[in-house]
Amino acid sequence: MEIDSQRICIIGTGYVGLVTATCFAELGNHVIAVDKDRSKIEKLRDGVCSIYEPGLEELLQDNLKVKRLIFTDDVSYGIKGSQIIFICVGTPPLSDGGTDLSQVEGVSRVIAESINGYKLVVEKSTVPVKTAQWIKRTISLYNGNSQKIDVASNPEFLKEGSAVEDFMHPDRVVIGVESEKAKEMLLDLYKPFNCPILVTDLSTAEIIKHASNSFLAMKISFINMIADLCERTGADIKMVARGMGLDRRIGEEFLDAGIGYGGSCFPKDVKAFTRIAEELKVNFNLLKEVDDINKRRIDSFISRVKEALWVLSGKTVAVLGLSFKPNTDDIREAPSMGIVGRLLEEGARLNLYDPKATDNMKEVFPPCEGRLSYFNSPSWACSGVEAVLILTEWNEFYELDLRKLKKLMKTPIIIDGRNVFNPDDMEGLGFEYYPVGRKSVRNYY
Ligand code: NAD
Repeated sequence: MEIDSQRICIIGTGYVGLVTATCFAELGNHVIAVDKDRSKIEKLRDGVCSIYEPGLEELLQDNLKVKRLIFTDDVSYGIKGSQIIFICVGTPPLSDGGTDLSQVEGVSRVIAESINGYKLVVEKSTVPVKTAQWIKRTISLYNGNSQKIDVASNPEFLKEGSAVEDFMHPDRVVIGVESEKAKEMLLDLYKPFNCPILVTDLSTAEIIKHASNSFLAMKISFINMIADLCERTGADIKMVARGMGLDRRIGEEFLDAGIGYGGSCFPKDVKAFTRIAEELKVNFNLLKEVDDINKRRIDSFISRVKEALWVLSGKTVAVLGLSFKPNTDDIREAPSMGIVGRLLEEGARLNLYDPKATDNMKEVFPPCEGRLSYFNSPSWACSGVEAVLILTEWNEFYELDLRKLKKLMKTPIIIDGRNVFNPDDMEGLGFEYYPVGRKSVRNYY
């Protein structure tokens, strides 16, 4: 096949790489998307999305049809055929909180081996500051300085669940570069975007990403502590958050109290940033506390379940919502993982339901007769249970027919980790209701 040298290559077709590849294609670029996982590539070639992300599969199919987007498991082909190469591989956490950069290093070496001319190598994966320098050094070292390359940092800020929208309409684009050529190439690529574009050096761009995620995680841990204060004083966290958020300096987003943040980014990035600070001898204990508060949310939720149910052993409990947030099938570091594990340890029988994340959850917690069952609807999951736990605020849970639900349950107890319902309504309906940072409704003594 003839190769067009102006194509973009995206290495890694996970949540970030697949959205990046598809959206760049949608904007008129020719994109070669590469993944080492052949089964994923085969599905993608057939227009089947390997992840659930609203709007993505349609865009994928449209761009496959017009051949602006092609998929291959041949990394070398992608590199040879493109001038701009985006690294979108995983950067999972190590047990000491540091970042496992083996996928980034591996890709850098393959780039070195396959290079056939000038390349602009762009790190989109979230990485510790100075990683771009390591990528550059690795490529130069392994190709014996035979080709001129530039390295850039272009962190990604999309959110799972609204990734296509976020990619296409970002609040800002950050481009860390060290050459005029790299800057011009990336500015040209991002020309269709109608948002501020911040051009920085490499380290600044890398730090912007970690600092942004850590700050957002801090906001969540902060509001969760305020929720604890509300519970002890009778104040209402929803109103407190609104009262705070209307101050434009604070902002209303990321002030939802609950069972804590999860996903593949916040927990890992907070730990990684803490570790970077430690290595640089900067006292950033604030971030350690952000992480500790988040971990404690699971303990306090389990205590809440015990407060409502007393002995868990032998009780049947429905768990509604498994993904770490709504509109995604991603369960990586989701609070549900810890909570389901702990409830099983306590001997509870669990009925699980999630609109999209069930298949992923089954891989971690396979169904087990009499202990753990999966259901296709909330009503089936809640039939005959002694309590319902809400762990993800999927839209459909706001619309549940609570009168009907109450009739299906053995005892009418709802423990709501995401403040989906209004305590007064729940009182009126005769539920025992345990929200977060708001008045609990207790009907039975
Ligand atoms: P992911 O695990 O979903 O995807 C990574 C992909 O890279 C996998 O499909 C894997 O097979 C592929 N891969 C690994 N090594 C490869 C190689 N040598 N050649 C080709 N393919 C290879 O990860 P993700 O969630 O897309 O995250 C990727 C990066 O983006 C991470 O650094 C993450 O922190 C960052 N990030 C993620 C999000 C998010 O919401 N998921 C948002 C912003 C930034």
